[in-house]
Amino acid sequence: MDKAKNKSEDRAVIMCICGRTVAVEVIGGQYQDTYYGECECGRKWSLEELTAALEELSQESTA
Ligand SMILES: [Zn+2]
Repeated sequence: MDKAKNKSEDRAVIMCICGRTVAVEVIGGQYQDTYYGECECGRKWSLEELTAALEELSQESTA
């Protein structure tokens, strides 16, 4: 356990395609860059390197 490396970015909120917001958090272990969460509609979300994906999205929207 290395709490010093524990960032505040270990959880995030995304928008599901059903319109609900879904809280996702880092799985941990060997999946330090993978966020996982389940929406109330039953859809499972698994996102790798969420911050990088968000940066790409913002770049596209501003291009
Ligand atoms: Zn949903």
